[in-house]
Amino acid sequence: MKYYSTNRQSPKISFKEAVIKGLPQDKGLFFPEKVPTLSAAFFEALPGMALPEVAYKVLQPYVAEDISPVALRQICDEVFNFPIPLAKVEDGIYSLELFHGPTCAFKDVGARFMSRCLQTFAEPDKPITVLVATSGDTGSAVANGFLGVENIDVVILYPSGGVSDIQEMQFTTLGQNIHAVAVDGSFDDCQRLVKQAFADPELSRDMQLSSANSINVARWLPQMVYYFYAWGQWRNQQDTTTEVTFSVPSGNFGNLAAGVLARQMGLPIKYFVAATNLNKIVPAYLESGEYTPAPSVATIANAMDVGSPNNFPRILEIFRNEYENLKAVVKGYWTADEPIRETIKAVQEQGGYLLDPHGAIAFMALKEQLPTLQTDGIFLETAHPAKFKQTIDEVLGADIALPDQLAVFLGRPKQASHIPNQFEALAELLQEHHKIHTPTGN
Ligand SMILES: *Cc1c(COP(=O)(O)O)cnc(C)c1O
Repeated sequence: MKYYSTNRQSPKISFKEAVIKGLPQDKGLFFPEKVPTLSAAFFEALPGMALPEVAYKVLQPYVAEDISPVALRQICDEVFNFPIPLAKVEDGIYSLELFHGPTCAFKDVGARFMSRCLQTFAEPDKPITVLVATSGDTGSAVANGFLGVENIDVVILYPSGGVSDIQEMQFTTLGQNIHAVAVDGSFDDCQRLVKQAFADPELSRDMQLSSANSINVARWLPQMVYYFYAWGQWRNQQDTTTEVTFSVPSGNFGNLAAGVLARQMGLPIKYFVAATNLNKIVPAYLESGEYTPAPSVATIANAMDVGSPNNFPRILEIFRNEYENLKAVVKGYWTADEPIRETIKAVQEQGGYLLDPHGAIAFMALKEQLPTLQTDGIFLETAHPAKFKQTIDEVLGADIALPDQLAVFLGRPKQASHIPNQFEALAELLQEHHKIHTPTGN
């Protein structure tokens, strides 16, 4: 399988090259040249299949030329080693709980898969430095995903004082090959520094830099796996005449793009709902046909505060830019903060299910639209509610417990370098790291 750029101005390359490069030269997104379809026998067996087996079957055609069957099996066993249960919330509405991984958010799946791919590709005398900017959640997922992976050094830039305490603990207390760097600036400044590093000829001459950004194919493709797995679990509970809608809380739209690709591979999903907070670029596009990126607005579902969704071109690619076809399958929904709070409280009081602010939006979308769509609904519960403890505690008037994965970080000493918002400072820091971590010493 080769990968082309959605802007079509860069050459086709292998999976391995696409993972290491991250982004094509022409600033498009890498996309598989063929979308393989899975057999009827696969879908028949799916309801009884274990998660790592589903992962292997779905991902194998995308990586076969660069990762051997044995290595891929091992990667799938390691990455998908936590449960992804489908919980019934009420009649016809199910929650796909993607928060049982090490950092309690769905980003664990992509970050862990990407780290194992890079580990397979890295050579001892050619270590890879993964450079990533974070506003919070990506940093923890990437840090945990890459922790202890040989020949890979991870440098995480974050806005000094601009992430929550628990988020900061998740990537500054790990040690080993994970280095946190607090920047005197905003998240946008961090992203700008990362971009500058990738464009710098001296740095790219001296070291192999890679990005763990959410547009990387190795983070994007494995997200398909849980749509298949969810469908299998849902089928186990349902007769065969019912159809299903997936509601996806969306920011950069990688998650939804993965679902749409899974459908393209043959997974019988009737509709999707693109559910957003006030950053409603895509729902507005589905309504009016006009695509207008805007500066992001801060909300209580902050992992979705994105004004220019960088994975959306992949969805357009799958629908070949045919607006009517896209609209027939993908519905839009958006909401402000206050109804999210009310929903979290009401659902907790009525049935005892605790939603996080992101999953709550996707749940609300199903409540509104299922009567029209006439299907069952599965919403993606993308993070553990305790990751947003302050909001949830305020809404419920309670003091909810942290899961063990998060509680272990409390009280551990934080370690981070601190740099001014200047590229020279970052370049110097990277060169220093590189000297220390290259075994030959040159
Ligand atoms: C990143 C994130 C999202 C948005 O996912 P995209 O793939 O960027 O659309 C939703 N919920 C949570 C909790 C997230 O961390």
